[in-house]
Amino acid sequence: MSGKKPPRPRTERRIAERDARRLVRDRERLAALERGGAPDHPIEVPSSSVIEVRARATPCPQCGGELAVDDHASEAGVRVVAVTCRRCHVARRLWFRIIGVDASGPN
Ligand SMILES: [Zn+2]
Repeated sequence: MSGKKPPRPRTERRIAERDARRLVRDRERLAALERGGAPDHPIEVPSSSVIEVRARATPCPQCGGELAVDDHASEAGVRVVAVTCRRCHVARRLWFRIIGVDASGPN
């Protein structure tokens, strides 16, 4: 084997950046599989008053930081909560479904 060039610093840096992006993407993909990460598997809560508490108690999938609740919306029977990580400032959404037994009607 001959002519094997040692990697240049720029190439190494590009590889490191690519690996970091891949790690971020993998964490996002895992987060989407977690309960609450997508509308088809929402976090089930007994009432809407629990949603913010649960959202804040969910750690950021990227850095483990605390999430701040920005907004709530009701979408196709589930609640969508827009959150932002207080530490790394990544915005994401969490899905919740209210499974209350207080017969307040379907949502
Ligand atoms: Zn974070």
